Amino acid sequence: LGPLPVLLHMGDGIQVLQYAVYMAISLSLATVLRAFMARTMLEQFKLERLLRERAETDGLTGVLVRNRFLDLGRDALQEAHRQQQPVSMLFLDADHFKRINDEHGHAAGDAALVALAARLRGQGRKGDLIGRIGGEEFAMLLPGVDHEQALARAEQLRLAVRGSHHPGGHLSASIGVATCHPSYFDSIEGLLARADQAMRQAKRDGRDRVVTAVPKT
Ligand code: GH3
Ligand code: MG
Ligand code: MG
Repeated sequence: LGPLPVLLHMGDGIQVLQYAVYMAISLSLATVLRAFMARTMLEQFKLERLLRERAETDGLTGVLVRNRFLDLGRDALQEAHRQQQPVSMLFLDADHFKRINDEHGHAAGDAALVALAARLRGQGRKGDLIGRIGGEEFAMLLPGVDHEQALARAEQLRLAVRGSHHPGGHLSASIGVATCHPSYFDSIEGLLARADQAMRQAKRDGRDRVVTAVPKT
């Protein structure tokens, strides 16, 4: 618009017409270019979000991958400590999972893992974190949940898992429970390790059961 006042003041009709034509062309080009750039940026934004989701969630079961679970768990643990709230961890390992693969094939094993994750999600509440720690091992972090409540939640989860079927029968899982009390601070790794230890005791005790970790003092 800069030259317009000068043109209107000093220029002739032809020059004003030329100016109007050039302006129309420039504005059209700018509009097309802007629309193209906006679309490219939107596509890039969608792609970035997709990549982030893929990096953070397990492709088979849709729950958090181990590292993301630990990162978010670390934050949740710090927040709970600041608010003087307990936090509990459930560590779940599917029982005799190798048999499903060996007897019915890996596709059946994969389907059983998907069903198991669905049970975990079904038992999850707002604020809980669910992660796949290893092959057939999952963990749930329950902020604000004390030891008694965590035991009850673990038992509900165990029963929910038993309600999940695969070609050879029903699934079962061994679950370890550990709680971080507001009076002391435990790292996410320490809490997970205690829940894991309790889960392994559940295996030794005969599987398909819930075992509590020794409280940290
Ligand atoms: P336990 O009751 O002692 O836990 O016995 P288990 O058979 O569950 O334990 P083990 O560690 O011997 O075997 C775990 C099996 O889980 C072995 C592995 O093939 C299977 N597994 C791990 N990840 C996957 C997966 O993504 N898909 C399938 N189909 N199987 C998997
Ligand atoms: Mg295992
Ligand atoms: Mg197992």
